Amino acid sequence: MYLAELSFKIIADTNFDQAEAAIRRYIEALIFNGQILGREFPTAWLQDRFNSRVVLPAEDALQQQYHSQRGKAVLEQLANSGLAYPQWQILGMDLMSSHTDPCLSSDYYILYSRFSETCSPLRCGEHFAPVPLYKFSALADDHEQLIRWQLQYQALDEIQMQQNRVLHKSAERSLQQLSSKLNQQGHALARRFERISLTPVFYALYSGSSDNCITETDKRCPGCKGSWRLDQPLHDIFDFKCDTCRLVSNIAWDCQSPS
Ligand SMILES: [Zn+2]
Ligand SMILES: [Zn+2]
Repeated sequence: MYLAELSFKIIADTNFDQAEAAIRRYIEALIFNGQILGREFPTAWLQDRFNSRVVLPAEDALQQQYHSQRGKAVLEQLANSGLAYPQWQILGMDLMSSHTDPCLSSDYYILYSRFSETCSPLRCGEHFAPVPLYKFSALADDHEQLIRWQLQYQALDEIQMQQNRVLHKSAERSLQQLSSKLNQQGHALARRFERISLTPVFYALYSGSSDNCITETDKRCPGCKGSWRLDQPLHDIFDFKCDTCRLVSNIAWDCQSPS
């Protein structure tokens, strides 16, 4: 991932509130299209311009050709708030985030998220590296539903990973039961992505704890009740894969012996 600076030059009379709202609308449209990662975009007012720091999944991510309809519309509205089209420069690699997948296309994808990550929730099936969502902008208007799902997923994962956790069990249930609203949404979004990309999309079902570690390794697919154990773990994470239900999962972390 890359750290970049977006610069909005002031070209006409404006006030701080109006300019701030226009910049927010523009950057949020890019966030919901996968062109900018994370939720934070610190912005400074420097006399004749506003500068915002953002994290990008790839060096070309801000190009207008990848904008959604909404992104193009709010770009045009910047002028009404006295701002020019933004200029941007790459400041360098972001050392804190993972590397974007190199593939032009993939045989299959995995929808996967964890609390600590600033990256796309869509992973390449072969490399398990994040795939920028804006690359699919010709197929879907934007990815707001998927990114809003990811925000909720990460919030619940954050809660259940803390040491002195509040709401531990309810957060964990949301993450590991296929029937939870969170997983139903995620599974449906994976199916939708499969339809628009014409590529299989597996949903990664989290497994943290189990009632019975002895039967855990032989558990059945929660979708079809079929056998889904893999001979070899996939990407050192997934022990189970069901091609029918498009699910991957792991032996509950609590039942895995520390290596
Ligand atoms: Zn790949
Ligand atoms: Zn199944």
